[in-house]
Parts: sequence; C-alpha cells; structure tokens
Amino acid sequence: MKFLIRKCVKCGKYTLKTKCPACGAETVTAHPPKYSPNDKYLTYRIKVKYENMQTQNSNNQK
Ligand SMILES: [Zn+2]
Repeated sequence: MKFLIRKCVKCGKYTLKTKCPACGAETVTAHPPKYSPNDKYLTYRIKVKYENMQTQNSNNQK
C-alpha cells in the first residue's frame, strides 16, 4: 500500500485525509509526481472544488 501524504491548502498542515482535520479546508497531495510551484492547473482545480462546496452549502441552507 502506498501512502499519499496530503497538505492543507489553507493552513499547510499535513494529513492523509482529503479534508484538513484542523480547519476543514481541502487538501492536495504534498508530493505529486510532477510538481511545479507554478501549477496553474492545480490552483484551478482547488478553485473549482471551493465553488462546488459553496454551491452545496447554499443549497443546504434553503
Ligand atoms: Zn488546514
């Protein structure tokens, strides 16, 4: 089995979970095979995830 260390996009905490146990923000893999500090696609993916979360939250509040 392969461990996938993930990192919180918000507070930078390392975890194995898809959501940060500390602040509840999304986490991303800390060491992807091809990591670029200027990974625009990764930023885009995170943005899409946040927009989806906000959409779901607003639906729940109705
Ligand atoms: Zn966090």
